[in-house]
Amino acid sequence: MHVAVIGAGIIGVTSAYYLRQRGFEVTVIERNPGVAQETSFANAGVIAPGCVAPWAQPGMPSRVLRHLFAREAPVVFRPRFDLAQWRWLARWLGECRLERYRRNRARMQRLAFYSRDCLHALRQHHGIEYEQSQGYLQLFRTEAEFERAASARALLKEAGVPHALLNADECRRVEPALVEGTPLAGGVHLPQDETGNCAYFAKRLKEIGAAQGVRFRLGTAVEALETEGDRIARLRLGDGTLAVDAVVIAAGIDSARLVRPLGIRLPLYPVKGYSATAAITRPENAPMIAVMDETYKVAVTRMGNRLRIAGTAEIGSRKLALRDASLGTLLRVVRDWFPGAAAYGQARFWAGARPMLPEGAPLLGPTRIANLHLNVGHGSTGWAMACGSARVVADLLANSTPEIDLEGLTLERYSRRRG
Ligand SMILES: Cc1cc2nc3c(=O)[nH]c(=O)nc-3n(C[C@H](O)[C@H](O)[C@H](O)COP(=O)(O)OP(=O)(O)OC[C@H]3O[C@@H](n4cnc5c(N)ncnc54)[C@H](O)[C@@H]3O)c2cc1C
Repeated sequence: MHVAVIGAGIIGVTSAYYLRQRGFEVTVIERNPGVAQETSFANAGVIAPGCVAPWAQPGMPSRVLRHLFAREAPVVFRPRFDLAQWRWLARWLGECRLERYRRNRARMQRLAFYSRDCLHALRQHHGIEYEQSQGYLQLFRTEAEFERAASARALLKEAGVPHALLNADECRRVEPALVEGTPLAGGVHLPQDETGNCAYFAKRLKEIGAAQGVRFRLGTAVEALETEGDRIARLRLGDGTLAVDAVVIAAGIDSARLVRPLGIRLPLYPVKGYSATAAITRPENAPMIAVMDETYKVAVTRMGNRLRIAGTAEIGSRKLALRDASLGTLLRVVRDWFPGAAAYGQARFWAGARPMLPEGAPLLGPTRIANLHLNVGHGSTGWAMACGSARVVADLLANSTPEIDLEGLTLERYSRRRG
């Protein structure tokens, strides 16, 4: 059986791998000349299942409003004359209620913990190196912020996630490169969380998949999915057609556009973010552990001999232009904590579009078109959920029962009124 995977970001590449493991003949179609060149390219790299949470959460709407006119803000909202934006926001607001947040978070974490297990198994089996590092440290600049995060800590406890509350001195013992002088009220240390270079991992897994028989058609765009009766019969490509028995959509933010002509509406909206990557010049001043500045929601991660600084959630920008104020925030935060550690003046900047659903959890598996499957909408934690999502989708296609409960992770959540 021939399965086509559309998109070779982290979601498409992992999907192809697990599908091949399940014995399918697999072709991946990607419009770029290489894998992981869009949203999976230069993300923060954090894999922290206990911190995976929907963007829709209590207090977030007021936070967005508070920052509406601020220059340096972790969340930026640009109101547009765009019906899709307002529809998405209306649904997103509904998901900010506490009980919805708890439900959505539980769905995402179920998948994220499973995904970490899958990633570890895969890493061990193939010995993949992807600049991984161990441990995650959340920093709070003020007592008030530390207090406000108490409910998040309660949820960590409830989920049994190992973590330690630290005062400023203890934070500096966990990460000695943290500079003195920048206000620090305290932190949370999550020793089991990790980071890694998502794009490197995707490239390595692509090589492994290709060696096992996965075909990659790079530099080829899918223009349309053509049906015959109630099935997808072929893909229309820029340079011809491709006959298929089944299709997995893993096209990131463009997934919605691809399936819409088939009557499937996905409430996906791009939430833009930025990163800066700078060569480490003074290793002793650079962090070993991944650090998240909770005030600015900026993560600083060591990736080999570079520092990756990533953050900002910007809603309302469909273009990936670089915005000076956001890049300035990234550099300000990293200079606050690790001044002189890297060549910040020569940093490479990047912007990516998180493929976000209002509820935060992705959509996996079947659609009402028998041979069309989804692996979409991983938002701000697609790297952390990739291996698990891909394995679930491959299991479903192979008619095997997935190893986790799929409640709330399939299109069924939209078929029930209050799903
Ligand atoms: C600043 C930032 C920081 C982040 N940090 C983290 C983090 O720390 N941890 C984490 O887990 N996640 C993080 N994320 C989120 C994560 O990067 C995304 O969830 C993930 O990359 C989404 O992967 P994807 O494969 O769905 O999308 P993409 O990587 O965008 O892949 C989709 C692919 O589909 C291709 N495609 C689309 N349409 C077509 C077509 N018609 N024909 C052919 N190909 C097509 C595209 O070219 C693209 O390559 C971050 C994101 C951003 C922006």
